[in-house]
Amino acid sequence: MSENIQQKIEELREELHQHNYNYYILDEPSISDFEFDAKLKELQDLEAQYPEFNDPNSPTLRVGGGVTKNFPTVQHQFRMYSLDNSYDFNDLEDWEKRIIKTIDEPVEFVAELKYDGASISILYENGKLIQAVTRGDGFQGDEITSNVRTISDVPLKLKGEFPEHFYMRGEIYLTRKNFDKLNALREEEGLDPFMNPRNTASGSLKMQDSGEVRKRGLSAVLYQYIAENFPAETHWDLLANAKQWGFRVSEDQAKLCRTLDDVKNFINYWDQERHNLPFEIDGIVIKVNSLKHQRELGYTAKSPRWAMAYKFKAEKVETELLSVSYQVGRTGAITPVANLRPVLLAGTTVKRASLHNEDIIKKLDLHENDFVYVEKGGEIIPKIVGVNTEKRTSESKEIEYIKHCPECGTELVKIEDQAIHFCPNELHCPPQVVGRMIHYVSRKALNIENLGGETIEQLYREKLIENPADLYTLTKEQLLPLDRMAEKSAQNILDGVEKSKEIPFEKVLYGIGIKHVGETVAKKLVKNFPTIEELKNATEEELCQVEDIGAKIAVSITEFFANQENLLMIERLKNYGVQLEKGENTNDVISNVLDGKTFLFTGKLSLFTREQAEEMVEKHGGKNISAVSKNLNYLIVGEKAGSKLKKAQDIGTITILDEQQFLDLVNS
Ligand code: AMP
Ligand code: ZN
Repeated sequence: MSENIQQKIEELREELHQHNYNYYILDEPSISDFEFDAKLKELQDLEAQYPEFNDPNSPTLRVGGGVTKNFPTVQHQFRMYSLDNSYDFNDLEDWEKRIIKTIDEPVEFVAELKYDGASISILYENGKLIQAVTRGDGFQGDEITSNVRTISDVPLKLKGEFPEHFYMRGEIYLTRKNFDKLNALREEEGLDPFMNPRNTASGSLKMQDSGEVRKRGLSAVLYQYIAENFPAETHWDLLANAKQWGFRVSEDQAKLCRTLDDVKNFINYWDQERHNLPFEIDGIVIKVNSLKHQRELGYTAKSPRWAMAYKFKAEKVETELLSVSYQVGRTGAITPVANLRPVLLAGTTVKRASLHNEDIIKKLDLHENDFVYVEKGGEIIPKIVGVNTEKRTSESKEIEYIKHCPECGTELVKIEDQAIHFCPNELHCPPQVVGRMIHYVSRKALNIENLGGETIEQLYREKLIENPADLYTLTKEQLLPLDRMAEKSAQNILDGVEKSKEIPFEKVLYGIGIKHVGETVAKKLVKNFPTIEELKNATEEELCQVEDIGAKIAVSITEFFANQENLLMIERLKNYGVQLEKGENTNDVISNVLDGKTFLFTGKLSLFTREQAEEMVEKHGGKNISAVSKNLNYLIVGEKAGSKLKKAQDIGTITILDEQQFLDLVNS
């Protein structure tokens, strides 16, 4: 019986591996998505029922879901070197000359795309994926196996005849399409968009929940085989082998070049064509093909002598500045934007470029209807890098920065140590009102689910809400006429609003959006001022006595409570039943083992978050302080601790603990 089950499970796995390969690597699906899902489901059920047959490389693990708290550091068996860079054909010719000095026979090259993502090293043993590690500093990296398993391009099980133990190196990246999709989603949720596909890809690899990694839709391409022994004599043949074993390899868009001229042609071709690729590349990598030649050339302190990266130049075009417009952000910050005569740049039509702030405009000495140079470098948003002053007419006037908010007409203020202008009309400037509401309902504040940014904007436009208190008067009749609002979603919103009345005071205090009062500050305030009345009546001096509360925060709090509209809102929130007092059991003291001792955490913590750590300190009678000084008793260091650790060591009287030692202390 159990043998039958095991066989069935293995057959299903085998079959699903093959379908995955057909779909992701060959791009030739062999069954419908529906059938695939049905088989996957069948396997999942069997695995759940018979955990004794579990396999870390089962296709079911593609969907992710496991949570990794901290990624162990792993030594690379073979160092992951960097590449030398070249920027023009002269550099390449010099490189070839250096090669010829060492090798006196004809040298072949392989030219490949330089994928712009995060590099990875994946260990395979007996045809199974064993371990995936980031590049790190080249000597050691983070083990992120469970996250890499979710990437469909990465085979979990190999095909055909393969060496017993080897590494494949490659790049994890995000296609433009998946990047745009992700950002559209984030925008819907009122989150800041990601900057570029590369950072998003490497950030995604470090997420703790592999199910979330799966949702990011990462891709992988492999470009190097490495092991003690090689089953072929050239890099080109190794790639061909790897392809046979089921890898998606760089060979698909690479070229075997007999001469440097072939390499140059390849570069020229992709310099143009790269804009039509579904993903970003930042150059070309050229590798000496023969492994024997590679061995003869060897390595410098930081890179192989047998490989070279050729970096593409950022593309630059000239176009006319039509006007400058100004956007008001959710915090009131003003961003000037250049509206340009549409121009083709790096494969996309560019109509706008960010000007960031007034200083940048001044530095460019931007005039009306100037002809400007626009460049697209690594970032998604193009920028203006200069002005063609020869085309400027004598009557053209300097761009004058606006004095008033384009949304509400209020006079702008500029904060001295920042280059940015702000609209001070926090309570009535439309984008700021919406921003404040989005903050109020966000997960870390009142956590009102189902109430997204778009709905809030609509509610505001319909004049149904202008401040958080208004949420508690909403009715279903008001909600139903809104776009895309059904009976059920309306009810969900009302339920969410109702449930928010149970959210503890510290989160409410964070949610009402007093400037400079973040989560941690809110907690500290509640501890010292357990009711909103006490907080309202606190003077600046009293506020400043609280640990970590400085003059800036204190002023902001007293100003908030000096405003009649804010007081009215607070009064209404209280009447609707929102928590404006500290609850009974929060912050209970558990022990006094840390009594009178001071603590500070530094570096990347992996066993707990900084917040949890500070809470533990408090619950056991200790005190958190924010800087290293003679008054500090314990410094707890996580990964990559820097200057604080050094300073503590210099002082000499401070006990330095790692996270586990801290836990032992707490539990002693
Ligand atoms: P850089 O980070 O600019 O020093 O360039 C080196 C990095 O290029 C490597 O660590 C790889 O992650 C990446 N890379 C992208 N495509 C390739 C490729 N086809 N061959 C080798 N490295 C590549
Ligand atoms: Zn305004």
